[in-house]
Amino acid sequence: MSLDDPAQPVWAPPLREAAPRGLCTDCGVSRLAEPQQCGSACQFIKPDYAAMEARVHGRARDEAKPDELFFGPFRQLLRASLKAPIEGAQWTGITSRIGEKLLETGAVDAVLTMAPDADDKWKPVPVIVTKAEGMAQVRGMRMGYAPLLALLEPARARGYKRVAIIGIPCQVHALRALEKSLGFERLYVIGTPCSDNTTTANFHEFLGLLSDKPETITYLEFRADYHVELRFEDGRKKAIPFLMLPLSDLRPDFFPLTCRTCVDYTNALADITVGYMGGTGEQWLIVRNERGSELIALLGDELKTGAPENAGNRAGPVKGFMANTERSAGGLPLRRMPKWLRPIVGWLMPRVGPKGLEFGRARVEMKAIETILHLRREKPRRMKAMVPPHVWKLVAPYGLKPEAGEQD
Ligand SMILES: Cc1cc2nc3c(=O)[nH]c(=O)nc-3n(C[C@H](O)[C@H](O)[C@H](O)COP(=O)(O)OP(=O)(O)OC[C@H]3O[C@@H](n4cnc5c(N)ncnc54)[C@H](O)[C@@H]3O)c2cc1C
Ligand code: SF4
Ligand code: SF4
Repeated sequence: MSLDDPAQPVWAPPLREAAPRGLCTDCGVSRLAEPQQCGSACQFIKPDYAAMEARVHGRARDEAKPDELFFGPFRQLLRASLKAPIEGAQWTGITSRIGEKLLETGAVDAVLTMAPDADDKWKPVPVIVTKAEGMAQVRGMRMGYAPLLALLEPARARGYKRVAIIGIPCQVHALRALEKSLGFERLYVIGTPCSDNTTTANFHEFLGLLSDKPETITYLEFRADYHVELRFEDGRKKAIPFLMLPLSDLRPDFFPLTCRTCVDYTNALADITVGYMGGTGEQWLIVRNERGSELIALLGDELKTGAPENAGNRAGPVKGFMANTERSAGGLPLRRMPKWLRPIVGWLMPRVGPKGLEFGRARVEMKAIETILHLRREKPRRMKAMVPPHVWKLVAPYGLKPEAGEQD
């Protein structure tokens, strides 16, 4: 379906070219009329999460409360799913259903999000959705990043005052930094976690390692049971244990430095984060503020919720991850498990490995460790500004401490 027609429910406006930047995921700010706003908005320059959390949620993460150090400020952590999962959604479709409901009830004029490119279903294209039925076109996950925030100007130019944005953490950070100057009457921010992202072009290489017919893969997800799920055009499904993935065959720069050093896995500045990490096979909601509670209430009894599971011990897997990351950040090949052992450990991990919230904590700690090790090696002078204090607290149990000049 063409996305070029502004009269249609889903419209991809023409956008300006990106300005050249160093560490950058092209969130869209450099394409605005005042691209210099990158200086104050960018997650990769000098983020101040404590101040921004306080401004957005009324308080910064409270490290005395269980789990806020890991997941950011929240009111509720929920395991959740839509009772009637939506066809084409990445999980059950909570994210796009919230957008649909906001448009259906007239709470917003527009939802800013990503549609698949007409020629490449894996490539995200920033779009403005103005009718509830348009949300069907944006369901599911694309791999890569695209300039979501460049949509702010065309949305304002069309007079939209009440807006919802669905975004990944680096986009949401910049959005929150600009929020006040945007002059929207109402802004809902629905976030997803994000990790291990890369360009869509790189992602195609990865698909090529997973199948001899990569063009027939229609769905991919890293599940919380230590498997990657693939779905194919002919309806087949395949689950590959993480340990059997060809990750060590990827080039060292397969994941850009931005995504190896991103400090906000759980999208701490969104009103609600919709992910799967703590959901043990279902979705996982982090409701962060009043607006987030409002979004959940909008779904009413369409939503099934429960307390997240919490089992296992993350210390061993996180230490193993750190040892391997030290090797790869030092330019050494990953330590591969012997081939014969991999299926056995692949079978064991879902049974004995961390589950539910403990899985979420493990992934957040792994990401924090990865940030320190890769930044220290590749851009040591950026550490002081880019690594927030809470990230140092996350890595401290594993013996990682700031070295001279790495912290204020
Ligand atoms: C690159 C990426 C990495 C992720 N990594 C994790 C992870 O490690 N752990 C975790 O718990 N969750 C992760 N997620 C979120 C997860 O995959 C699901 O998208 C989320 O749980 C919502 O599921 P849903 O069924 O509610 O979404 P749906 O109802 O299918 O809606 C998905 C929404 O996401 C938007 N979207 C799709 N692709 C992109 C993109 N590339 N950039 C920005 N927006 C996009 C769509 O436009 C749509 O609005 C990631 C998402 C992305 C995009
Ligand atoms: S990620 Fe966004 S804010 Fe940061 S440099 Fe790139 S365009 Fe600018
Ligand atoms: S991993 Fe971080 S930096 Fe990379 S796209 Fe996701 S949120 Fe942005």
